[in-house]
Amino acid sequence: MPELPEVEVVRAGLAPAVTGARVIAAEVRDPRALKRHLPLSGDDGLGGHGVTMPAAAAAERAADFERRVTGLVLGAPARRGKFMWLPVAGARTVATLDPGASAEWALLAHLGMSGQLLLRDTAAEDDRHVRIRLWIEHPAHGELRVDFADQRLFGSLALDRLAPTTDDGSLLPMQAARIARDPLDPRFDDAAFVAGVRSRASGIKKLILDQSLVSGVGNIYADEALWRARLHPDTAGNAISVRKLSELLGALRDVFTQALAEGGTSFDEQYVNVNGQAGYFAHSLNAYGRGGEACNRCGDPIKRVPFGGRSSHFCARCQRRR
Ligand SMILES: [Zn+2]
Repeated sequence: MPELPEVEVVRAGLAPAVTGARVIAAEVRDPRALKRHLPLSGDDGLGGHGVTMPAAAAAERAADFERRVTGLVLGAPARRGKFMWLPVAGARTVATLDPGASAEWALLAHLGMSGQLLLRDTAAEDDRHVRIRLWIEHPAHGELRVDFADQRLFGSLALDRLAPTTDDGSLLPMQAARIARDPLDPRFDDAAFVAGVRSRASGIKKLILDQSLVSGVGNIYADEALWRARLHPDTAGNAISVRKLSELLGALRDVFTQALAEGGTSFDEQYVNVNGQAGYFAHSLNAYGRGGEACNRCGDPIKRVPFGGRSSHFCARCQRRR
């Protein structure tokens, strides 16, 4: 699943090609890739995250997206945790819902498990699993395609409203309003994170996966940071010292920074950058995906145990349960 480094690599890769570009056409090939898109007409009964949609309602949702996204001018892509969005100008989007409202909008993308945003020449062949295609025209680069491909359909594009955050007033899409800052964000509040963890009895892995406490962390980087900080994934938050939590934040920052430099982690070939290329960080993993292999620190085999429908990977010797 794309986590902070992967989403950030995609965001940075899109920026030069899409910033200032106009959407000249849109084609929704599979409305299931719009599960986070809510039509302007209001509740269409499908819910915000429905995967199964009655055909007529799905077609209407697709038509709503195509109509409203066409003609928009895209701003510089931004990110909060695993959410990415492009503020849009030229919106015909607002008028019919609440005329006079000064709402600002964004084209929001969540990559889910296997979502990809690919930049392609207009004549390029189709990639696999393309669900939504945008044709854009950039004042300097001419025409390009932005293809949203998603094998497993947990991802989505959407038009979403922007609202000011409570801390510094910067604009966030409504769907990302409750997402905390990530540890690489200069405004991340270390003390609030430490206090939040120490007020809870849940296991530390569960806590760092909680996007309202710290964002951008998924299964891969949780296992990697806990390995680096020598913390057992089930250690209760309220049993961890302030010093150890500072160490964990440092480990998260280190692993994110290294993964960014190496282009992200491509596991099962589901993550690629905007040019369709894999990242290299999978070669630098110490815990995730290494069940049964020797710990790079002590040589004991890495354990793999079930965790919330997925797995946790850790070294039982380096990461003692307390
Ligand atoms: Zn070890």
